[in-house]
Amino acid sequence: MIKFARPIVNRKVIPKIKGIINKGVFVHGALTDEFERKLSSYFRLNKKKLLSTSSCTASLHLYYLSIGLTNKDEVIMSAQTHVATAHAVEACGAKPVFVDCELKTGNIDIEKIEKKITKKTKCICVTHFLGRPTDMNKINKIARKNNLKVVEDTALSIGSKIGRKFAGTFGDAGTFSFHPVKIITTGEGGAIILKKKKDFLLIKSMKSFGYDVASPNKRKIPGSYNVNSFGLNYRMSEMEAAIGICELLEIQKKIKIRKNNYNYFLKKIKNLKNFKILEIGSDKTFVSSYYCLTLILNNKKRSYRDKIILKMKKMGVQVSIYYPHPVPMLNYYKKKYKYSKNSFLNSSRIAYNSISFPIAPHIKLKDIDYMVKQIKNIIG
Ligand SMILES: *Cc1c(COP(=O)(O)O)cnc(C)c1O
Repeated sequence: MIKFARPIVNRKVIPKIKGIINKGVFVHGALTDEFERKLSSYFRLNKKKLLSTSSCTASLHLYYLSIGLTNKDEVIMSAQTHVATAHAVEACGAKPVFVDCELKTGNIDIEKIEKKITKKTKCICVTHFLGRPTDMNKINKIARKNNLKVVEDTALSIGSKIGRKFAGTFGDAGTFSFHPVKIITTGEGGAIILKKKKDFLLIKSMKSFGYDVASPNKRKIPGSYNVNSFGLNYRMSEMEAAIGICELLEIQKKIKIRKNNYNYFLKKIKNLKNFKILEIGSDKTFVSSYYCLTLILNNKKRSYRDKIILKMKKMGVQVSIYYPHPVPMLNYYKKKYKYSKNSFLNSSRIAYNSISFPIAPHIKLKDIDYMVKQIKNIIG
């Protein structure tokens, strides 16, 4: 069976995990600090701007809490994203406002953003789709003109760059996921990069209940703290940080393997006729994190696509769908905001007619040869 994701973590993690168990320090420890330092240095951040969190969802929620997003506010986002991008807004009682994506890239259609801006709009949240970053210079220009905050949901795109600058470092906040299916993992986990020191300090406290002194080790009187703001428990644990430190040893190597896999795969199928390939590969303007290789079938029947996925499974190839519905077409959102007809045509094309193939480091060239053979047999 060729799996869609199977993280391969460096074995150096094992003594680190043993160390945690022997010492008995599971949270607020040195490994979480080390992970944050090393991840900051990967992003070439000079000041303290980055915090580890328990997930990308937590990172998004923390940012919205920190800017005081309420039920009077709206956040603009792509219809073609993970449900977490929208749920984090819902968690504050605010309303996600969806914009269709481009068919070529799956990224938000920037031309359609300004029409959706109202007096209630507080923020634009951009999802860098499958490793291909959105044009953040254009997004920031729209945001400045309309006095909006910018969040980059970079869950699938750690390591992607626009020009020479990392995706996730353009907006007021950039959020990352280390779920096992992403580019690097910590088990569950996430991070957030903040532009402003004030946001950094507030979120550092908010991810630990709003404690005035977040770490128990740093309290003058052990056990005594006060709470200056609302907060939740959205911390990363030491176990997760240990895995993350080992993943960072290999992040460049991992992205390079993805890139090689993608290019090898692309060369073998690009002349086939029954589908188009989502354009996520690096060009002169951007660097991709190469999340997966996605075909958009010419046949527009959803049942046809679903049948192909089942045939692939039968032949031992586990593919995936990014993402299986436009978010506004998910039952929860459809009912709540009374979307009657689907007006997100490109998002629907991708959601209902695409198939994503794995290119992560567990995939060998012979696995790609096998997947290519199945694509030729099953899709033609
Ligand atoms: C996976 C994903 C998330 C959720 O990440 P978690 O760390 O599981 O919370 C959010 N946004 C996007 C675009 C994702 O792909």
